[in-house]
Amino acid sequence: MLDLAIVGGGPAGLTAGLYATRGGLKEVVMFERGMPGGAITQSSEVENYPGIAEVVSGMELMENWPKQCMRFGLKHEMAEVSRVTRNDDGTFGVHLSNGERQDAYAVIVATGGTPRRAGFKGEEDFLGRGVSTCATCDGFFYKDKEVAVIGGGDTALEEALYLAKICKKVYLIHRRDKFRAAPSTVERVKATPNIEMILNCVPEEVYGDQMGVQGLKIKNRETGETIDLKVPGVFVFVGYDVNNGVLKQEDGSFLCEVNEWGQVVVDLSMCTSVPGLYAAGDVRIEAAKQVVCAAGDGATAALKAIEYVEEKKG
Ligand code: FAD
Ligand code: NAP
Repeated sequence: MLDLAIVGGGPAGLTAGLYATRGGLKEVVMFERGMPGGAITQSSEVENYPGIAEVVSGMELMENWPKQCMRFGLKHEMAEVSRVTRNDDGTFGVHLSNGERQDAYAVIVATGGTPRRAGFKGEEDFLGRGVSTCATCDGFFYKDKEVAVIGGGDTALEEALYLAKICKKVYLIHRRDKFRAAPSTVERVKATPNIEMILNCVPEEVYGDQMGVQGLKIKNRETGETIDLKVPGVFVFVGYDVNNGVLKQEDGSFLCEVNEWGQVVVDLSMCTSVPGLYAAGDVRIEAAKQVVCAAGDGATAALKAIEYVEEKKG
């Protein structure tokens, strides 16, 4: 029986592992399907992690995190978790995709989320090099420059408003002429002089070179006209999938409470609606989707898990 199972090895999972092991838990395993580091390793430039004064890549930022955790006894099992279940005695079953299973007194779910892709040419190639899914992360790189935002939901419009405060101009590109976003948000966007709405248009291709993006070609769905926007930054906000699959039970229900967008409901201690089960980082409600916040969540969850496991074991 593990003291603690951590699902996911991004900033939240790694920090949970550090605090749990350094805080005294002995058998702590972090199940991560790939190399530890998480979503930030896709970024070529990070300049908002406190204490790191220079601009570093996500890989560089995360390089030492696993080493630090392992020093205190965290074990990393490179395996995908397919499901977490609750046993009759209140402990948990961690089911792996390879058919194996491990039991644990407590579980921290730190599986993050996945921004959806719009599916245009070059989108994947330039991700982290001019194509972004995070205005808080990358907006500042385009200070006083022109950028494009793709999407017509609340996220796209709210992020366009955020970017408009930093950038010279924001082209908001939406495939229809009606927005999903709240009417009040649409009005705020319309009232912002440096946001230009380009409606009924779909992105076709982002292009550039080794240095990054140089422009975005979009196509008007009604006229067939192609427009070439010479922007160095393209922000894609076409939906977001919370990685909550491990909490799905055989009958389709979730092990703990999730909200209408699939985000795991937690309190300020990262406790879910099920005792001994915690969620940390981008998978939880109200996540700021920042490395520093995910790390903080991981620490908070681990501190609570230590208390819980010690009490459970007596
Ligand atoms: P993640 O980092 O997403 O980690 C989750 C981990 O769980 C992943 O490693 C995944 O492989 C693993 N996992 C998922 N499901 C399973 C499973 N079933 N079994 C096993 N493992 C599983 N933030 C900033 O603060 N500053 C920035 O400049 C910045 N730039 C960014 C640039 C890019 C291109 C991207 C994509 C994100 C950026 N972010 C930035 C956001 C930041 O990366 C996230 O907020 C942060 O990584 C969230 O951490 P997390 O641990 O919650 O989740
Ligand atoms: P969303 O509401 O699903 O909107 C996605 C947008 O992207 C839609 O306008 C969609 O166009 C467009 N889109 C999807 N696929 C595309 C593609 N391949 N190419 C071009 N455009 C594409 O997603 P979201 O904005 O991330 O919001 C998710 C949920 O969170 C929503 O329920 C939202 O209300 C909520 N949210 C709320 C707040 C808030 O209340 N403050 C803030 C953020 C998010 P169509 O409209 O044509 O489908």
